[in-house]
Amino acid sequence: MPSEFELIARFFARPCDAEPGVVAGPGDDCALLAPSAGSELAVSVDTSVVDVHFPQAAPAVAIGHRALAVALSDLAAMGARARWCALAATLPEADEAWLESFAAGFHALCRRSRVALVGGDVTRGPLSLSVTVHGEVPAGRALRRSGAEAGDILAVTGALGGGRGGLAAWRDGVRDLDDPLLRAYLLPEPRLTAGEVLRELAHAAIDISDGLLADLQHLCTASGVGAALQPEVLPLAEGLTARLGEAAAREAALAGGDDYELLVALPPEALNEAVNRLQTLGLPLTPIGRVVGEPGIHGIDDSTRPTGWQHFPGGTP
Ligand code: ADP
Ligand code: MG
Repeated sequence: MPSEFELIARFFARPCDAEPGVVAGPGDDCALLAPSAGSELAVSVDTSVVDVHFPQAAPAVAIGHRALAVALSDLAAMGARARWCALAATLPEADEAWLESFAAGFHALCRRSRVALVGGDVTRGPLSLSVTVHGEVPAGRALRRSGAEAGDILAVTGALGGGRGGLAAWRDGVRDLDDPLLRAYLLPEPRLTAGEVLRELAHAAIDISDGLLADLQHLCTASGVGAALQPEVLPLAEGLTARLGEAAAREAALAGGDDYELLVALPPEALNEAVNRLQTLGLPLTPIGRVVGEPGIHGIDDSTRPTGWQHFPGGTP
């Protein structure tokens, strides 16, 4: 069985001292990074735990992609440019075929997102992947949750409900990663380029990880505003209604979570340009309501209001 250091060398560490801003990559006690002048560092960490965030039997290539994608999504939500990441991997065993495939998924998304894997850790235990991402944003220009203003348009990228729909498809036995719902769930695309575009146009943003209603509430609370939502215009993920039926599809779009799309609040006069610029990226941007002064989310029937995902439900909200 390979040692910890052989695992790191074979599957994780790639020479990256030639990558922009990397003074020292894997191999020393710390990575050394040189942020660009005039920028702030945006830093976030996300942990993906087996059978909590992904099924144990999911293809390893998807587990590798997804662990990085969900972390990068937070950089996208701030309008940051992704630069570097570190991976703390807890593995139950050193299964070389599994690791080969996991690393292929992880490194492929690194390359596509221009992110260098600059360090990490390998330990033994129940499968869990912790990914720290570092991005850069021009000083003072990050897209925050707190900037929404009454009168702003609320809009979402892509389509909603695919996370929950894909989980349902998995439970129904779908295993083909070309299935649009399973793709949305297991291979979400961090909206990094869209985030950088929207940084110039929007007042506030958040990525939809807990569910639209829950994340919209976070944005509203941070901004001290409310929202008038038009639930009937939510863009539904491809195949969602066919898989779940009409009512459950709507609920999945409102509260399913794991969609990793961006929710933005932008001034009405910026909407057209935002739609057009995202269209050139092949990504729809759909207006779904308005920011209002009165706190709370309006437009949803209280008797059917679903709640977002929480690891520790209960307590004070
Ligand atoms: P230390 O004991 O000093 O914490 P480690 O033995 O854990 O260092 O790691 C040795 C080197 O390999 C470090 O530079 C570390 O960043 C790198 N490394 C460890 N695990 C990973 C990983 N999963 N991906 C990338 N680099 C890694
Ligand atoms: Mg260590």
